[in-house]
Amino acid sequence: MSQINSKITEEIRSKVKALLSAEEIAAFVGFIDGTLPMTARPFTARSPEDADRLVFNSFCVVNPAVYLPPLLKSLEPPRRPTDPLPEGPLPKVGILATGCWSRNISIQLQENQIARERVVVLGTGCRGMVDMRKVGSIIDGREIEKAYELDDRISVSGKGFSEEILLEDVLRDNCLTCICPNPVIMDHRVGGQVPDRRVDNRFPFVDEIESKSLDKRWEWFQNEISSCIRCYACRNVCPLCYCPTCFVDDSRPQWVGKSLDPADTSIFHILRAFHCAGRCTNCGSCETVCPMGINMRVLTSKLTKDVIDLYGTEAGVDSDAPLPLTTYSETDRQDFMV
Ligand code: SF4
Ligand code: SF4
Ligand code: SF4
Repeated sequence: MSQINSKITEEIRSKVKALLSAEEIAAFVGFIDGTLPMTARPFTARSPEDADRLVFNSFCVVNPAVYLPPLLKSLEPPRRPTDPLPEGPLPKVGILATGCWSRNISIQLQENQIARERVVVLGTGCRGMVDMRKVGSIIDGREIEKAYELDDRISVSGKGFSEEILLEDVLRDNCLTCICPNPVIMDHRVGGQVPDRRVDNRFPFVDEIESKSLDKRWEWFQNEISSCIRCYACRNVCPLCYCPTCFVDDSRPQWVGKSLDPADTSIFHILRAFHCAGRCTNCGSCETVCPMGINMRVLTSKLTKDVIDLYGTEAGVDSDAPLPLTTYSETDRQDFMV
């Protein structure tokens, strides 16, 4: 195992065990090993014994912040929506946070979805997560039976093959363009600070699409989403998508059809991306979980790029900065309004 990640794993286990034993938190959201090689699955530890199962490695590809609002709510005493919050302190939840995960926690705080005093953040620097599709293309899609990670490589083997692959060659694209590998919010540190990544161009894919004509851009978009099966995994895994009823599930009014008609699928992707404008942290979970390999992060990255150009701000990096699309000022430009 990677020396760096095994040290972080040990520190997480020990800290979470202490927090749960002292009843400072009621639960902790982290990861345990998955059932397949090169997988880690999100896990809620609720007892000191559970803490011994926690891990941190380059396969923790799902942003755990998605579980935070519902978990906090589940720990509150049942009440009707109109009832006031119960008096006295409510149970706290601990969560593991890398740079982008912590930025999503910051957004949830800014959007009043969670209360800071109920969240205990274990922050760790992150050297990037592995893209299974990149690994698959290096080993020609052969089945991996065993895998382990070292600090700068992963070793994979299966029937008739064994490969050592440089980590840098198989990191997810969002990790390769990450501007914030260290947590922006943290109560306890696990592991050390990691150096910032030097990124010359954070939006190479966006630039490529922007350089095309309108027709070609539309052709790219239609082609990209043509294999979407509307499973909504991209929405379900996103920590920004906490709406009690998503627009795609509404039936009165029905904003978008449920079919695989290209018009319906286009509306789903365009609206979902716009709902993430100024909020997306480039965590990559949506793209990672898509079973069809759709690069929908190009859309959210285009909006991130525009928000940086227009507002000079980036989602979740500064928790005191006003949210660009939900903050009104009388000096805002209004000439675009009809
Ligand atoms: S896609 Fe939009 S409406 Fe649906 S859950 Fe996400 S933010 Fe809410
Ligand atoms: S839209 Fe995708 S990349 Fe952006 S925060 Fe949501 S899951 Fe992460
Ligand atoms: S995860 Fe992929 S297939 Fe599923 S709705 Fe999203 S883009 Fe479509």
